[in-house]
Amino acid sequence: MSRAVAVIGGGYGGAAAAKALAEEADVVLVEPKDAFVHAAGSLRALVQPDWASSIFFPYGRLLSRGRVVQGRAASVDPRGVTLESGERIEADHLVLATGSRYP
Ligand SMILES: Cc1cc2nc3c(=O)[nH]c(=O)nc-3n(C[C@H](O)[C@H](O)[C@H](O)COP(=O)(O)OP(=O)(O)OC[C@H]3O[C@@H](n4cnc5c(N)ncnc54)[C@H](O)[C@@H]3O)c2cc1C
Repeated sequence: MSRAVAVIGGGYGGAAAAKALAEEADVVLVEPKDAFVHAAGSLRALVQPDWASSIFFPYGRLLSRGRVVQGRAASVDPRGVTLESGERIEADHLVLATGSRYP
């Protein structure tokens, strides 16, 4: 069975899924930001600016296997994902973890 997995979105859900799946599959994580943002620390970061950098975790350290592509998915289909840049990532499986917005 082919094991190429594209995970779209590197928030809490996508980062956890990518890290777990990378143990057994060829994972590509697609995320526009260059670092995971630990949102739960945002309020402390606002009132304690010298601590603010603590809520950012660069994606380069996330996966021991697989890769992280900095970009935004424009469309997905059964064969993979196409980024806004035009880059194409072929995948056998997709994980859509793009979160939601409060409004
Ligand atoms: C300020 C703040 C504080 C919070 N504090 C808490 C707390 O204390 N406790 C708690 O339980 N919850 C808290 N939350 C809520 C929590 O952050 C969310 O429930 C959680 O982030 C949802 O995780 P997720 O993985 O579903 O989505 P997200 O974490 O939103 O991740 C989605 C990711 O997808 C990426 N993405 C979106 N579109 C695309 C695309 N087209 N292509 C590629 N990537 C894309 C985004 O850049 C993002 O990184 C807080 C939220 C905020 C904003």
